[in-house]
Amino acid sequence: MPEDAPVDPAEVGEQDAPPVAEKPYKVIFEANKCIGAGKCAEVSGNWELDLSTGIAAPNAYFIDEADLEHNIEAAAVCPAKKDRGVIHVIDRETGEELAPDPEGDGTVSVDW
Ligand code: SF4
Repeated sequence: MPEDAPVDPAEVGEQDAPPVAEKPYKVIFEANKCIGAGKCAEVSGNWELDLSTGIAAPNAYFIDEADLEHNIEAAAVCPAKKDRGVIHVIDRETGEELAPDPEGDGTVSVDW
């Protein structure tokens, strides 16, 4: 892909990814925009705030149905980027953003 081509969210992180049937959802995390508020870690076991860096990180980027709800919750409560959030939960099949989805139409709200 040429360097200036628009980013296709459906492709992000898909190298070495588990099969979609196993892990239908993935997380895209804008770590450089995390403000270390730690809200994600309060609502989701997938998120931890690293006190040495002051930035959160997910344990897993690819998730299944069982882990969907609390990751959606983490995405929804993240206050970074003026409340738009920096945790993005993506449906790998459709490429749509399930949360935080500030546009309300599944558009991926990552600042690429
Ligand atoms: S809630 Fe958002 S800003 Fe706060 S630590 Fe988690 S990812 Fe970072």
